[in-house]
Amino acid sequence: MLNAVLFDLDGTLLGNEMGAFVPVYFKALTDYMAHLIPPEQLIAGIMAGTQAMDANDGTGATNQEAFERVCYARLDKGRDNFTPVLRQFYREHFPQLRPVTQRLPEARRLVDWAFEQNLEVVIATNPVFPRQAVEHRLAWAGVPVSEYDYALVTSYENMHATKVTPAYYREILSYLGLAPEACVMIGDSWKLDIVPAAAVGIPSYWIVGSDSVAQDDAPSDDGVPLIGSGTLADLWRQVEEEGRLQPSTFNL
Ligand SMILES: [Mg+2]
Repeated sequence: MLNAVLFDLDGTLLGNEMGAFVPVYFKALTDYMAHLIPPEQLIAGIMAGTQAMDANDGTGATNQEAFERVCYARLDKGRDNFTPVLRQFYREHFPQLRPVTQRLPEARRLVDWAFEQNLEVVIATNPVFPRQAVEHRLAWAGVPVSEYDYALVTSYENMHATKVTPAYYREILSYLGLAPEACVMIGDSWKLDIVPAAAVGIPSYWIVGSDSVAQDDAPSDDGVPLIGSGTLADLWRQVEEEGRLQPSTFNL
């Protein structure tokens, strides 16, 4: 029986091609912080901090702790110099990035449907961003935390691994107290959404073929339990027709 649905955010619930978004985001952030630190030094610190998060295995520090330890050592400045300015950036300037993304009408329909089915709904976005940045993007997607009582929204504050490792999906299962077969992951990245979820036994729907989504990689692993693939609109059509996430031919 299905108990929970895990939605990726960027490229899944929200039209957001990371190749276009990240440069605009880094430019906005480094411009905003330029009075504190030269842009290239800040980017080097962020990259080092991101690698530290990706090295997290789910058992130790939060991603935020791992990020800050490495990033601020690299910047040679204490976190107290940055924290209030960063908070203000995410509150006041991050919202200006919204035009780089596209709202998808099916996002809200699918999330509404999942809540109507009494499923636990998890926003399983790669937890390398602060909660503030995730909440903004959920609002842009039309599914804000102010309206939906998500079981879990993963961010760098509450997770101890990123999507590069199955430990991320293991941590979600343990938080929900659910077996992997009771969950479905919906995401657009073969490497970050489909393969590591499959490694812990969670079947997936692979989002492909939308104009707003750039495929970062191609499937290579046979035996990965896909329940289907298509655009978010395709998935919504299937849910409307079958009344369920899994096609009737798929045995869960
Ligand atoms: Mg994605």
